[in-house]
Amino acid sequence: MTNLKLPERVTLCEVGPRDGLQNEKTILSTQQKIELIERMVDAGARVIEIGSFVHPKAVPAMADTADVARGIKKKDGVEYRALALNKKGIERAYEAGVTKAKLTVSASPTHSRQNSNASPEEIVASFRDCADYAREHGITMSGAIATAFGYYAEGVIGLDLITPIVDKYLEIGVEELSMSDSTGFANPKQVYEYMSYLLERYPQVRWTLHTHNTRGMAMANIFAAMQAGVTRFDSSFAGIGGCPFAPGASGNIATEDVVYMMREMGIETGYDLEKILDVAETVSDWLGHDADSALMKVERRKDRGGETCSSAEDSPSAAKKTATVERRDVESKTIRSIGYEPVAQILEVEFRNGEIYQYSPVPTLVYAEFLNAGSYGTYMEDAIRDAGYVEKKIK
Ligand code: ZN
Repeated sequence: MTNLKLPERVTLCEVGPRDGLQNEKTILSTQQKIELIERMVDAGARVIEIGSFVHPKAVPAMADTADVARGIKKKDGVEYRALALNKKGIERAYEAGVTKAKLTVSASPTHSRQNSNASPEEIVASFRDCADYAREHGITMSGAIATAFGYYAEGVIGLDLITPIVDKYLEIGVEELSMSDSTGFANPKQVYEYMSYLLERYPQVRWTLHTHNTRGMAMANIFAAMQAGVTRFDSSFAGIGGCPFAPGASGNIATEDVVYMMREMGIETGYDLEKILDVAETVSDWLGHDADSALMKVERRKDRGGETCSSAEDSPSAAKKTATVERRDVESKTIRSIGYEPVAQILEVEFRNGEIYQYSPVPTLVYAEFLNAGSYGTYMEDAIRDAGYVEKKIK
């Protein structure tokens, strides 16, 4: 009667402490991060991404990842994972006692060229020293393929761009891979086709689907991936992250929403839903805006006077709408982003008398590290100023 292919259980990796928090305006304290991680593990997380070992100036919100890693009371059987982008990051992870690290590369050739002046395959090949070091020091590696379904420059990213990256990861000995829809471009049909193909072609790989709910497709994409046989998914408590540059845009799919869907379909996640909602409530209190999850809206509704991402008045997009630009005095600069994980892009900044008047192309989710001096999310303005382009913040 039924043709639905549903697994008995799935593994959800909690990425809120990393992918979520790094894109939030408010930087939480080390102690707050430790509390969130420990409470999510208590709620049932068996894989959790605790932070990233990247340049602290590039991503200020992740500057204390080593302290977080040392501070958490680790529970047996739980995988505490951190993101690293190079050997130095892996070394720092090792020093902090992290035993699982994730590398990442953008599948978009344009994006890769912009960031590293190398192709995605060349970048993965350059991870060999990371993989070797990790092996020698007892660190298990995984690899992410960011912008795996689409990117602004190329539009749809074809499977022909994905398979050479997978081959390279396998060559350096990384067999756990994540297909990351960093841009939220993926649709369920594409996810089903890609994941079916990849699972068949690479049965030795442990596949994860990493979703962003930018266009509301994340739940459908997760469901489609399950039909293709995927049982590992990334999600974030309270659905946080990803709003500063695209007002109203969503971050990672909310863990509580995914857990709810799984529970209602009889699929085991190992999570206690009420405990996740408690964590999501704490997170949204600390960050000062509502959680971006359907379940929080119906279960833990709060009136915050509309103070959500979509009304952030200090976002570049909001400023763009109100700025008056006199073309003749406007100088235009292209600032090349050198972002990594999800979506970096070339950003055009127009300014006059040291003030930013316009960002373009907006609106997109920009998670970018600008000219090494830059950072994520709302720190962009500071980054541009630090890079010597402007003296004043956008009003
Ligand atoms: Zn992501």
